[in-house]
Amino acid sequence: MKKLLITFFLFTAMGVYAQQKKTQPMNKNFVLVIHGGAGTILKSQMTPEKEKAYTEALDKALQAGYDILKNGGSALDAVEAAVKVMEDSPLFNAGKGAVFTHEGVNELDAAIMNGKTLQAGSVAGVTTIKNPISAARAVMEKSPHVMLTGKGAEEFAKEQGLTIVDPSYFYTEDRWRSLEKALKQDSLKEQQKKSTLNQPENRDEKYGTVGAVALDINGNLAAATSTGGMTNKRWGRVGDAPIIGAGTYANNATCAVSGTGWGEFFIRLVMGKSISDMMEYKHSSLKKAAEEMVMKKLPALGGDGGVIAVDKNGNIAMPFCTKGMYRGYIKKDGTKVIKIYKE
Ligand code: ASP
Repeated sequence: MKKLLITFFLFTAMGVYAQQKKTQPMNKNFVLVIHGGAGTILKSQMTPEKEKAYTEALDKALQAGYDILKNGGSALDAVEAAVKVMEDSPLFNAGKGAVFTHEGVNELDAAIMNGKTLQAGSVAGVTTIKNPISAARAVMEKSPHVMLTGKGAEEFAKEQGLTIVDPSYFYTEDRWRSLEKALKQDSLKEQQKKSTLNQPENRDEKYGTVGAVALDINGNLAAATSTGGMTNKRWGRVGDAPIIGAGTYANNATCAVSGTGWGEFFIRLVMGKSISDMMEYKHSSLKKAAEEMVMKKLPALGGDGGVIAVDKNGNIAMPFCTKGMYRGYIKKDGTKVIKIYKE
């Protein structure tokens, strides 16, 4: 009788185990893709030192995300970690190194999205949060809201125990010079009494926003984007990065997208969500959807920029219609690819 009972329990246990195994994620593939901004990035204007510095920074960001993914960590943790590395680097237009507004301030925008739950969080126009991407994540996970702006967002970040810095932390000489140049162009334009909206010189030549998208071993997708916006922006201008569906979007059913470029056009095209919709409703491949939006729709409207994207199967796309885009990816086996220019 005892033997019979033991055999019965053994079989039941084996059955439960087999059932669990079946419901466990089958997707063991993972990948991380990052960008450090699109724009007029030409090899002819690059010094070997500068190229090395960018490559090293991108490499560090990829590694930070990879270390999380390879240990079974979440896509969300990976994209946040990768973006944080780039926010902390003065090379990119995000966190330290962000561009200046018309008034000479650094106003930062960031967003993060969880493809599994479609939860999202973002902050806009913040001036004292060291890592806006972590504030965006806190908004998503610790508040009932999706988007917080300005002083309120800063207050919330402080309450959440995030690192608060003096606005001067974000200063870099390079970005200050870009503002001076833009202001000079402004006054020239004023003299010529031209409409500013249609002037190509009314925008940055180099964008430098940072972003990351990832697929983790559980088949979850996530996207994160962080930026200082555009040099010489004013009137509390907010770009596409913190707008869910425009510069940042993730949905496990389709893909995760992070954009960089002339934000106004990304907002008007609802860039990230449009790529996702083309996959969901038109059954386009990731590559086709991303290329259609970035290489056709975006320039047709007069904008420019690029996106990085990954789909639920781990396929990636990195199209851009500018001269270059700092970008890279790392796959499960550790293969790392980093690129800057057009091929
Ligand atoms: N997309 C950003 C914005 O318009 C700029 C960038 O990509 O650098 O705010």
